[in-house]
Amino acid sequence: MNSINMDIFPDDIKEYLIPKTEGRMKYRCLSCEAEYGIEKLLYICPECKSVLLLHDENQERIKKIPGKTWRKILDYRKMLKIPALKGIYRYHEFIGPVIPLDSILYLGEGHTPIVEANSILSQKAGMSFFFKNDGQNPSASFKDRGMASALSYINYLVKNGLVSDVLAICASTGDTSAAAALYASYLEPNVKSAVLLPHKKVTPQQLSQPLGSGARVFEIPGVFDDCMKIVERLSENYSVALLNSKNAWRILGQESYSYEIAQDFDFDMKDKVVVVPIGNAGNITAVMNGFLKFYDAGIIDTLPKLIGVQSEHADPVYRYYLEPDPKKRVFEAVNVRPSAAQAAMIGNPVSMPRVIKLVEKYNEISGKQNVFFEQVTEQQIMDWQLTANRHGHIVCTHGGETLAGLVNAIKAGKVSKTETAILDSTAHALKFSGFQDMYFSNTFPAEYDITPKKELANMPVYIHPQDLAEIPMPGNPLTGSAMENYIKRITTEIATQLNLKSVSG
Ligand SMILES: *Cc1c(COP(=O)(O)O)cnc(C)c1O
Ligand SMILES: [Zn+2]
Repeated sequence: MNSINMDIFPDDIKEYLIPKTEGRMKYRCLSCEAEYGIEKLLYICPECKSVLLLHDENQERIKKIPGKTWRKILDYRKMLKIPALKGIYRYHEFIGPVIPLDSILYLGEGHTPIVEANSILSQKAGMSFFFKNDGQNPSASFKDRGMASALSYINYLVKNGLVSDVLAICASTGDTSAAAALYASYLEPNVKSAVLLPHKKVTPQQLSQPLGSGARVFEIPGVFDDCMKIVERLSENYSVALLNSKNAWRILGQESYSYEIAQDFDFDMKDKVVVVPIGNAGNITAVMNGFLKFYDAGIIDTLPKLIGVQSEHADPVYRYYLEPDPKKRVFEAVNVRPSAAQAAMIGNPVSMPRVIKLVEKYNEISGKQNVFFEQVTEQQIMDWQLTANRHGHIVCTHGGETLAGLVNAIKAGKVSKTETAILDSTAHALKFSGFQDMYFSNTFPAEYDITPKKELANMPVYIHPQDLAEIPMPGNPLTGSAMENYIKRITTEIATQLNLKSVSG
């Protein structure tokens, strides 16, 4: 690493520009509030078995720096050429202050583009909005954010001799395993990974990812919720590192999504609406926690409105919040049905207790209801994904889900046209291209309840005129008049199909 010329930076931020290793992080139980040290891996409260979140006991040092100075520090940090600070750890003090820079794993995650919808698409949706393309992370989903954090922490434990020969495991709807296997493979041979996937419930692209990264891949009969039960049992009975979002380090890394939105809008969250899909509810937990932390530090002075979206085929969180009286709400897991938003096809979200706590806190601090939930149909998910991608986007089916959620939220009066929405496209369109294929070829199995709209369908046209005797083959190119005939016949055919006008006068 080159030495850094500090002269170019303003005096008031020089001492903060490069984060120091500090903070006192503790696991904190969400139910009984017991606290535990971070020198070992912990996923649930040993006392009451509830989920945990990580908490920095030394918050005061963050508050000592004014919000205005923080904004300046974070903006100037963009100029640094230190790899450890190029990704999510630009927000080191908020994500993992105890992790030394030399333990940080950076594989190119974070700082994903925020792309504005053009006027045609905004008009169709009913308001102006942006997609934040988390499919442009290294393993093509937002899960890399949490893995960068969880594996940096494991790397730190390994470097300090606190753990050795780590076997990282996770259950996955596809993207968690892709990210876990990628980040773990960077730490070979100290860290190895094994992933559990529901058989035939992940896309071929997602299956290829952990295989390519060298993970042990196990396919299990059942759905994600069943895989999760097995992984939980494994983590209770054997020495393994659990990498699902039950692992509180994952949540910390995923908070970077909120920090980036804040920074990209110059820390002005007034009239902003952040829309995310919900599966296991780790992401919405992190998004709420992230904005709350920036608000607490005075870095933003408004909490943006949040909307969590679920498909009607996997909607336990949406159903929970249908009851307006908090005292009467009862959480019930649902049996999921097939969904094009397959990575969110989860009936019993592990982070539900975190969501319940944080929604209450978020609304309370906002002084009004500021977290909303929406439900969308499978038809809407596909129609909106394809519509968005016909206007310059690369969103996955979950991006379609968030756009559909926004459209429904506008109709329900939860969002007004004077606001600006930032929608999470959680993965890359290519990971879920099989759903596009089924739409275009009208081959969705009946359970999906999806009928393709003709105007959105698209198919390749094979051009091979019947009377064209000779065609080029690999290793057998055409020459002379055969080649000339081939070019002429095919050119004419395409020009006819496209109705092209001749340029010769
Ligand atoms: C994991 C995932 C989700 C759901 O996120 P949760 O944190 O489980 O709620 C949504 N979209 C994609 C593409 C995912 O990989
Ligand atoms: Zn507890």
